[in-house]
Amino acid sequence: MDENINELISDLKSYLEYLKGMGIVSIPASEMKADEPGQSTMITLEDVRKELGDCKRCKLHRGRKTIVFGEGNEKATLMLIGEGPGYDEDVQGRPFVGRAGQLLTKILQSINLPREEVYIANIIKCRPPQNRNPEPDEIQSCTPFLMKQIQVIQPKIICALGAFSAQTLLKTDVKITALRGKFYDLEGIKVIPTYHPAFLLRNPERKREVWEDMKKIVELLG
Ligand code: URA
Repeated sequence: MDENINELISDLKSYLEYLKGMGIVSIPASEMKADEPGQSTMITLEDVRKELGDCKRCKLHRGRKTIVFGEGNEKATLMLIGEGPGYDEDVQGRPFVGRAGQLLTKILQSINLPREEVYIANIIKCRPPQNRNPEPDEIQSCTPFLMKQIQVIQPKIICALGAFSAQTLLKTDVKITALRGKFYDLEGIKVIPTYHPAFLLRNPERKREVWEDMKKIVELLG
């Protein structure tokens, strides 16, 4: 037994030295899982989905049809985060598939990024009744899972779609008109807020600003 523990400590030491050599000096505990003694691996999106399960952590589970977990490339350099599922998303179990979603797909195409290359998620994963704004207790129950998705994907950039997403991620109540188009820091990840595609459907004259924001994203992605 002692021998096993010594071996485990020695393995862990070598692994930490290896990470240090790579410039990684800390590992969030939530990113690690132990399969078998002596074997630690990084968690995956599948692990996060499993942990979420048939979530009943907040009252939104009562009215939802489907949990909209998020979709896309686990290794995406760009992650887009909206507010929460609407009718179509709730029915299909996929984010941004309604009219706003179709516009988002077009916006991505305009910068030569197919949807499958990015990762798309929302602040909350269940549709609120009548698409009302998510409430604080709902956000509190749901965001730990979004944060884990972000930790797994480790995108270079997060594009926060709309006021609600931007204000929640950046923990601010500054207006989206003031927030948009600039980069902010979220634990080492650059966050750029822009207008929500649903807002653009109602205010097509604001598309130009989103286009400007997209150009900044492309420039930073390189
Ligand atoms: N609006 C959002 O914020 N998210 C979706 O998934 C769809 C519409």
